[in-house]
Amino acid sequence: MEFKGEAQSIPIEEVEPASEIVKRFSTGAMSFGSISQEAHESLAIAMNKLGGRSNTGEGGEDEQRFKDNRRSAIKQIASGRFGVTASYLVNADELQIKMAQGAKPGEGGHLPGKKVDERIASVRHSVPGVGLISPPPHHDIYSIEDLAQLISDLKSVNPKARLSVKLVSEVGVGTVAAGVAKAYADLIVVSGASGGTGAAPLSSIRHAGVPWELGLSEAQQILVKNGLRGRVRLQVDGKMLTGRDVVIAAMLGAEEFGFSTAPLITLGCVMMRKCHLNTCPVGIATQDPILREKFTGKPEHIVRYLFAVAEHARQLLAELGLKSIDQAVGRADLLQKRKYESGTKAEKLDISSLLIQAKGDHVRWAGEPNLSPEPLFDTELISHCRESIDQGTPTEIRLPIKNVHRSVGAGLSGEVARKHGSAGLPDDTIRCSFDGSAGQSFGSFLSKGMTFVLEGEANDGVGKGICGGRIAVHPPKQSLLAPQESVIIVNTALYVATAGEAFFNGQAGERFAVRNSGAFTVVEGVGDHACEYMTGGAAVILGETGRNFGAGMSGGIAYVYDPEGTFRSGRCNLEMAQLGAVDQTEDVQLLHSLISRHVEWTGSPVARRILDAWIEELAHFVKVMPDDFRRVLESGEAQHPMEAVR
Ligand code: SF4
Repeated sequence: MEFKGEAQSIPIEEVEPASEIVKRFSTGAMSFGSISQEAHESLAIAMNKLGGRSNTGEGGEDEQRFKDNRRSAIKQIASGRFGVTASYLVNADELQIKMAQGAKPGEGGHLPGKKVDERIASVRHSVPGVGLISPPPHHDIYSIEDLAQLISDLKSVNPKARLSVKLVSEVGVGTVAAGVAKAYADLIVVSGASGGTGAAPLSSIRHAGVPWELGLSEAQQILVKNGLRGRVRLQVDGKMLTGRDVVIAAMLGAEEFGFSTAPLITLGCVMMRKCHLNTCPVGIATQDPILREKFTGKPEHIVRYLFAVAEHARQLLAELGLKSIDQAVGRADLLQKRKYESGTKAEKLDISSLLIQAKGDHVRWAGEPNLSPEPLFDTELISHCRESIDQGTPTEIRLPIKNVHRSVGAGLSGEVARKHGSAGLPDDTIRCSFDGSAGQSFGSFLSKGMTFVLEGEANDGVGKGICGGRIAVHPPKQSLLAPQESVIIVNTALYVATAGEAFFNGQAGERFAVRNSGAFTVVEGVGDHACEYMTGGAAVILGETGRNFGAGMSGGIAYVYDPEGTFRSGRCNLEMAQLGAVDQTEDVQLLHSLISRHVEWTGSPVARRILDAWIEELAHFVKVMPDDFRRVLESGEAQHPMEAVR
């Protein structure tokens, strides 16, 4: 496509300065771990200098960077959620949920063990030398309602950040974008297929996803037609290279622009496409110290390049008679199909539907945050606990709770993290007890020093992302149900937990403790897929398990009470883990300590009975030990989880 040549040009001085245009630029998600520390920090320093935004990618960010010019303004929340803690979330200007990536839609990621050194492991809350898998989907998102819930969780933790959702350019992205706008996101990223690091498989780059122009135009048209465009900003990425790309993207609907490949090239990338092998010859996509020394990139290289792109965009805007990017947004009427020689394939291509100028009340963001009208339960909690947050004095409160109360604790935890970082408060400084049925994401992202005790039951997502706090859920004292036979918390409890402990006197639903990387927990039964992709911590299951237990598990340990032998007869996925007896001193100590704490916090009769007959009952436990974790334990490169409990 090309610009229509009929516009009246204006002097370039009348066009907004390049220093304003670059504020709309961000660098794409390149995780710390997949690229070197030097390259990651150069991107952040450059974007902070420009007033744009760099993106952490899937992999967390070292806390030391939160307060200086190496801080990434965009903190990404991808499916593996590595390093996603309350402290990480409150140190963001933008929180980005990555639903998929344009260059490899529908695929997850894999950071090979050889790239996971001490520093990366500590930021990602994992173990050095153990490979890390980012699953293809978010295990807490199976519908647009689930996405809305995660948006609500994240906005509760950090209400000051804008919330973006990254989607892939494909047929139907407009409909998804409309759902995302209704789910109260503030920005939607449409990610095209042409970008991607060298780690994306060529088959995906060539055969999956579509160019950004197609997805962007569809998203813009559907959002405008449905009266939703004013609620959200639109961003595009997927091989943005020039000012011409920027202006065309604006005309197709984008207000903001993401650059990934080009900034890496300014830093020295020679497109060897070896990003996943740790052998990048220019010190970008590698953790090898010798290769990292070869890195010659500088933040100024990115700054100069992006200023050149902005200047180029200004020239084009001047030629088209437009004074700003805002004036170009949604002006598809200024584009036309290029002329090609008669009879060629390109000449027959019909792109007229791409060039429809959507008309409605708003063709760009109207300037107001996209806020849910639902009141935040945590406002009350925060005011109750203000003194504890500011001065560290203990607070104890008891409140009724209903299932319409969602993300309870996330906002309070965000306040604690804002003030005290990941160190949080001394143990049990804030103790909140609740009576009733909690809604979704009860106790999500709970920081250290916070204890939540629920007498009742809870919906999905209990303790999601817990990062040091404590949760105990037990049935009401007057309940006649046998706890070990009844579901007390529903699905995806403790998803991506990084630290803390949780005790459940009853069964959990499906996907319990998926991607747990450091929490310790006891539960009295679980549904399918428990402990999937787990990388750390420990889980004790005192009852029935569903199938596919421990799939993709690379770290941490699970202990399953299996007096009937049903678990041993095929419930566990043994592709990456082995079953064994609990016969080593540290395992016995850890198991006994966790079950004792379970009794202390929930009064569980099953746990009490097991402790009373400890010697005989110990023989009924099965240990699930991931192969990778056993290897690093045996070589002394990692510590047994018992060390964290001592
Ligand atoms: S030079 Fe090759 S390996 Fe290094 S970042 Fe570029 S594409 Fe990846």
